[in-house]
Amino acid sequence: MLTTSEASAAILAAMPGFETEAVPVASATGRVLQQSVVAERDQPPFDRVTMDGIAIAFADFDNGARQFLVQATQAAGDSVLTLEAGKCIEIMTGASLPNGANCIVPVERIRVNDDLAEIEANYEASLHQFIHPRASDHAKGTELLTPGTRISPMDIAIIASCGMTEVEVSATPTIRVISTGNELVPAGEPIEPHQIRMSNGPAMIAMLEQHGFADSNHDHLVDEPEILKQRIAEHLEAASVLILSGGVSMGKADYIPEVLNELGVEVIFHKVSQRPGKPMWFGIGPNGQAVFALPGNPVSALVCCRQYVIPALNAASGLHEPPPEFASLAQEVTFTPKLTCFLPVKLVSSVNGQSLAMPVHTNTSGDFASLSGTAGYVELALEETTFAAGTGARMHRW
Ligand code: AMP
Ligand code: MG
Repeated sequence: MLTTSEASAAILAAMPGFETEAVPVASATGRVLQQSVVAERDQPPFDRVTMDGIAIAFADFDNGARQFLVQATQAAGDSVLTLEAGKCIEIMTGASLPNGANCIVPVERIRVNDDLAEIEANYEASLHQFIHPRASDHAKGTELLTPGTRISPMDIAIIASCGMTEVEVSATPTIRVISTGNELVPAGEPIEPHQIRMSNGPAMIAMLEQHGFADSNHDHLVDEPEILKQRIAEHLEAASVLILSGGVSMGKADYIPEVLNELGVEVIFHKVSQRPGKPMWFGIGPNGQAVFALPGNPVSALVCCRQYVIPALNAASGLHEPPPEFASLAQEVTFTPKLTCFLPVKLVSSVNGQSLAMPVHTNTSGDFASLSGTAGYVELALEETTFAAGTGARMHRW
């Protein structure tokens, strides 16, 4: 049986990367960049004035001049003027510094009468003040964004500033979420006392969507090998990622591993030394489809989806791996099985900025209602059985 880190590594090694596609910048937020974004121009592209006021030659001020004849006005976007000797140009924030000027005196520090601007007594000006020098942020040709960046609104500003109308991003995979089980009845349909409401499908679709994978459809299949085989074959034709839940344990009606095998899906592993989610199965289909078969228990399905499916989809999208996050256990935890424990927690911050993980007891891995309000789960190593309060643990946010 694989450890959790071996399982993650096996998935990442087997997972084919997604294609790339060009999308309009307006719809690129949240997508994973697949190209470098390089500065189109110097930034700022010219010596940029950062205050409304007057532009002067500092030498005039230094030589004692405090009154300047207003030669002209230059606003942001106006062509660049040339300052005449001893005069000033009324200037606006965002304008390009007039030729011959090297000092801006803010409008609050001057009085203008007719064509004469007078600087307030005792005002101290300095050379180059209120000028944002050309290329001082970055030079033309600087790589501003690298492939593997999840595009944020701030990145959209960068992309737009480079004059780009489209960007190359990783294509969104077509995903099928498949709930298996005779007992499952979807919301909206009448239900018998011995049946179970289907909740994994909608929850996993929501989780995928929250992580930027919105192209997913759901199907419900009963535990009949022939039907499973036929319908899963159709899904393998139509999608590049299949996420099944249920039917992977050792019960008589757990047909999924056998059916996948018959469909030519190569098993990479079955079972991971973890709780919840020990029966998890992963394989690669004949056309490189990634097939995750998760246990049906709702806590197991959600933890496995977050722990294995989401990182695999992120990696296949080329996303830079995010740095690991840690939290301190707020109370002692004992966990005796020789398994890695994924323990759902709420997170609170201490006054000194520490993240404290408050364990949330789930009444078996079927108790999904207790997950509401949890931030995610901590990962407790399989070698240990007692984890003292204050122990630092790897935190995985939903
Ligand atoms: P299985 O992994 O098929 O043995 O299912 C384990 C438990 O999870 C059973 O109690 C199932 O009824 C329940 N279960 C399986 N799939 C779902 C689902 N999609 N929604 C809610 N419960 C489920
Ligand atoms: Mg089942």
